[in-house]
Amino acid sequence: MPKTKIEFVCQSCGSRPPKWLGKCPECGEFNTLVEEIARPEETARRPVLSEERPIPITEVQPVDRPRIVVGLGEFDRVLGGGLVIGSVALIGGDPGIGKSTLILQVCQRIASLGHPVLYISSEESVIQTKLRAERLGVNSPNLFIVSETNLSVIRKYLEEMKPKFAVVDSIQMIYRPEIPSAPGTVSQVRECASELTFLAKRL
Ligand SMILES: [Zn+2]
Repeated sequence: MPKTKIEFVCQSCGSRPPKWLGKCPECGEFNTLVEEIARPEETARRPVLSEERPIPITEVQPVDRPRIVVGLGEFDRVLGGGLVIGSVALIGGDPGIGKSTLILQVCQRIASLGHPVLYISSEESVIQTKLRAERLGVNSPNLFIVSETNLSVIRKYLEEMKPKFAVVDSIQMIYRPEIPSAPGTVSQVRECASELTFLAKRL
């Protein structure tokens, strides 16, 4: 059994100073250092995905990646012309700004195009999400909702359902059981985001 190692991780910039400090030496934020259990080496390793080799840039053929045009002007514009298939986008913003409302409307648009959509709520129950959706007139039978925070379970749902579009609202509450740090910490958010990006590419 390897010894558990504690490290201090800045929740603002992700730096790891050797000891606890009131002020992060990297980004200068105060009280952002949190004790996290150091990640064991095995979970840091990723499987090698492809047999690709480096090639000269002149031989790279530009291809237009397939997109879903959502039909919400500003949303499509910010994404450069719609959602790129196999990609992940992070929607950020202050609490109460309307992220969940916007994303439910996006879900409705994509579901009404006939695509299966999965909305994973980590902060609200299925009933609460349903009530929010009702107020917005979101009611497509192609839109599936589930309340879950464990990334292993979320991975299973994604692999079984293979939705065209999936939402995790929000990443702050999701955790990977193999990582000993609390949900919302830099380690958890980074690992969960990386796993979700991997799944988006593969599924
Ligand atoms: Zn920092």
